[in-house]
Amino acid sequence: MKKFVGAHVSASGGVYNAPKNAKKIGARAFALFTKNQRQWNAKPYDSKTIDNFLKNLEESNIDPKHILPHDSYLINLGHPDKEKREKSLNAFIDEVNRCSLLGLDKLNFHPGSHLREISEEECLNLIADSINKTLDVTKGVILVIENTAGQGSNLGYKFEHLAYLIDKCEDKERIGVCLDTAHMFAAGYDIRDKDSYNKTMKEFDEIVGFKYLKGMHINDSKAKFASRVDRHHSLGEGEIGLDAFRFIMNDKRMDDIPLILETIDDTIWDKEIELLYSFIGENE
Ligand SMILES: [Zn+2]
Ligand SMILES: [Zn+2]
Repeated sequence: MKKFVGAHVSASGGVYNAPKNAKKIGARAFALFTKNQRQWNAKPYDSKTIDNFLKNLEESNIDPKHILPHDSYLINLGHPDKEKREKSLNAFIDEVNRCSLLGLDKLNFHPGSHLREISEEECLNLIADSINKTLDVTKGVILVIENTAGQGSNLGYKFEHLAYLIDKCEDKERIGVCLDTAHMFAAGYDIRDKDSYNKTMKEFDEIVGFKYLKGMHINDSKAKFASRVDRHHSLGEGEIGLDAFRFIMNDKRMDDIPLILETIDDTIWDKEIELLYSFIGENE
């Protein structure tokens, strides 16, 4: 099997609980926050925390390359205010270092928001600058930009934004993207039927390129098509419907990358994972 499906599992009580929580739901991949995502500061990992994480990870049989840590929602690498941007940058660098300590090679982040104080292009330039500064002082972790729904003043809702940031990035080996299906759909990229799915993926390939795809977030959407509203839903319950997920599970371009559920009902994640695997090889 070449598909690696999991969910954004809880790391409450300690990061070492995440692999256990992933194992419980039959996941072969997972996402986690490397620290409390609602707080700026967290104490550094002690060696016991790291050892426990590695031990539990080994017991889960999940390969570190199928883990896609997500950064804190507080971070805005394109903040128009210099001081606040630097605070974000420092927190981001700390998270990259946390990933390294856990032996993880990716960190997923939202590009940033202009807060209606600067133009989209100015904000993208600030984000690119933050990315390059992070790469300068860290090692081994790929920075994975997530596409967004474009809610409020969030950038990253167009494939062109992702391509712009990759273009400005000074180390192309350490930059990637994560496609969130709910965000894509809310941003106006249709994937509901085979033709629209093919068209959207072709556009992604031409503008960004599949070689940069390092993971996906597998979510249905409560928000309507092109609404620019970010509301996830359980698979098959929302506006996208199940076919899009059938296409993904049978698309070779999504082989060997983490496919992460961020759907709203964590009590059915095990069922959703099973459902996704059942799509493989099905007649589309
Ligand atoms: Zn996200
Ligand atoms: Zn997401």
